[in-house]
Parts: sequence; structure tokens; C-alpha cells
Amino acid sequence: MDSKPSVAIIGAGLAGLTCGTALKGMVERLKIFEKSIFPGGRISRFRAGEYEFNHGAQYFTVNHPLFWNIVSAWQSEGIVRPWDGWIVELQKGQIINSDMVTQRFIGVPRMQTIVESLARHCDLSTSTNISELEHQESGGWRLFNERGDYQGAFDIVIIATAAQQVAELCGSVPAIGKAADNVDMTVCWSAMFAFDRPLNLPYDAAFVLDSPLSWISRYQLAAGDAGAGTDCWVLHASPEWSQQYAASFRGRVMNAMLHAFWEAVDLDEQKPASTSVHCWKHALPINPISEDSLFDDAKAIGACGDWCTSPRIEGAVLSGFSMADRVMKYIRKNHA
Ligand SMILES: Cc1cc2nc3c(=O)[nH]c(=O)nc-3n(C[C@H](O)[C@H](O)[C@H](O)COP(=O)(O)OP(=O)(O)OC[C@H]3O[C@@H](n4cnc5c(N)ncnc54)[C@H](O)[C@@H]3O)c2cc1C
Repeated sequence: MDSKPSVAIIGAGLAGLTCGTALKGMVERLKIFEKSIFPGGRISRFRAGEYEFNHGAQYFTVNHPLFWNIVSAWQSEGIVRPWDGWIVELQKGQIINSDMVTQRFIGVPRMQTIVESLARHCDLSTSTNISELEHQESGGWRLFNERGDYQGAFDIVIIATAAQQVAELCGSVPAIGKAADNVDMTVCWSAMFAFDRPLNLPYDAAFVLDSPLSWISRYQLAAGDAGAGTDCWVLHASPEWSQQYAASFRGRVMNAMLHAFWEAVDLDEQKPASTSVHCWKHALPINPISEDSLFDDAKAIGACGDWCTSPRIEGAVLSGFSMADRVMKYIRKNHA
């Protein structure tokens, strides 16, 4: 083989878009398929009427030098900024700790901006749920959506979804399918409330102890939106509570979480102007495989995502880069 190969990436979360952006120019054709109506995955925004929330990832931290370089570039581009919010630890309505040390970053104006910026440079097909991969004897893959419609043929396929979907798509490549199948992920109920008047709370976010909730956060976009006067809060239930109520009715979960919120912040109850709830069925990987990405040279298929590395935005980005690196090595060996 001597021509540049074509590459399909399934999943337009951070891992898939990072991989796609890094491979741009190295391949003949690169297409990203996303089942949702917009890119972002677990850092996407949620809209409820006139209100908007970051209902997945709330912020990110930076450890690895490579990720520092990327974040510096994002800062120069104006799509992220350090988060100077006051973050505390709450127990039964009392502040028992205050975190002034950890450096956190947020997307500007919302977390989803990061993926929107990456997606601008990619050929992205949204609302496309890839359900079947067919390996060709002559090499390469044919892709089909959930209705069985043909979505194109590609020399290389990268699956950049949560572990469960990798396991479903990768049955014919046991080395990847089995590794992904062994990864367990937490469930997370996320509730979103908007109030007509700002709540009298001095902090911006809190880790909550001894409660069905684990995290509460005032939505920064709404807080900075002078004149709007509304106060939007995102609540995350703890993994244990979320698992216990995974199959419960949304209304019941919403009421229980709102009740836990008033208890956690020790305020009199107020009727929210807007209420929404979302269940992240595959929220965070509990036992990542500790291999930055997986690639099968014989079949030219790979997989990446936070379930390979660590359950964080940083983990997803580093896994996406590792995947691109492995694909480039494969191309140099097989398409030079
Ligand atoms: C509630 C919650 C809170 C979090 N808080 C934080 C935090 O504060 N800080 C932090 O660093 N991280 C946090 N995280 C983790 C962080 O969001 C993830 O680690 C990261 O976004 C994972 O990116 P990814 O690209 O690996 O996967 P995803 O974001 O899940 O992207 C996978 C994409 O694949 C798409 N897809 C799946 N199947 C198919 C298919 N068959 N065909 C086409 N497309 C498909 C999905 O729609 C999705 O867009 C949080 C996550 C959750 C759920």
C-alpha cells in the first residue's frame, strides 16, 4: 500500500476529536461519526428552555506536561480560563473545608466550547449512531448505522466512545472488545435547577459529604450573565445513590435531589423556575485499563477514551493523542 489511508472515528467526545485533530493532514480522508445532535459527549451542555447548564464535567485539572501545553494553547485561543470560584466541602449545611489550592479550568463560555472548537477542523457527521462494523477480507471496514444504512468504507477505524459501546462494536476484535468489556463505569444522576432569585450562598460549588449528593455547583455562565438575575445550579448525586436509584422515575429522583440540596446548603426551600434531570448511565470508569489506547495492527482498528487512562478530561485528551500517535506509526509502517 502506498497511498494515504482513510480513517473513521466513532464518537465526537474529547478523545475522538483530539485524535481527529492530531491526524488531520496525515490521512487521505478523516470522518468523525457522532450519535448525538452535537459533539461533546460527557462535556456537552444541557438546555432547558431559556436556561443552560454544564450537566457533565464541571471543570478540569492539569497534571501531565503535554496536557499543560494543550491547555496553554486553549487559553491563548480564549476557549478556557482558570476557574477562580470558591469551592468548599459541606457537611450537614456547614462549611467544613475550603479549597483555595487546586488549580481548576473551565470552558469559556461553557465546557462544550472546547469540543466545538476542535470540531470546527473536522469532517463531522452528527446524529449518526454507528452500530455495525464489517471487516473486509481485502482490508478496511464498512460502517453501518442502527437502521443498517451504509455509512462508508474506511481503511482504519477508531472507536472513541465509552467502554461499553467499544465492547459492543468490537466483538470481532477480542483483544480490544474484552479489555473494554472489563471496564465498569459509575452511574450519575445530574439534576439542574434554575431559581428566579439568587440563592444566598457565598460559595460557587461544593463537594457534599454525608448526603445523596456528591457535588453542587452554580453554573458560571448564568452567574456571569449580568441582569439575568437567575441562579442556575447543577447537582450530581453520589455514585452509590445514583446506582441505587438508576431505574427510578425521573420525577422521584428530581424531588429527592432537590430535597437533599436544601438539606446540604441549609436554606429554606424555594420553588425552582425550571427543573431537569439527566442520568449518565456511563459516567466515569472505575477501573481504567492503564494503557493509553488500544490498536490492532492486523485489522487496523483502535479504541481510546478516558476508560483507557483516567476518569477525567485530561485522561480523555491524552488517550486521544496516544491513539493518533499509534495510527501515525501504523501508517508509516504500512502506507509509506
Ligand atoms: C457527571 C460527570 C461529571 C464529570 N466531572 C468531571 C470533572 O469535573 N472533571 C473532569 O476532568 N472530568 C469529569 N468528568 C469526566 C469527563 O467528562 C470524561 O472523562 C470525558 O469527557 C470523556 O471523554 P471521552 O471522549 O473519553 O468520552 P465521551 O465524552 O463519552 O465521548 C464519547 C462520544 O461517543 C459518542 N458515541 C457513543 N456511541 C456511539 C456510536 N455508536 N456512534 C456514534 N457516536 C457514539 C457519544 O455520544 C459521545 O459523544 C465527568 C463526567 C460526568 C459524566
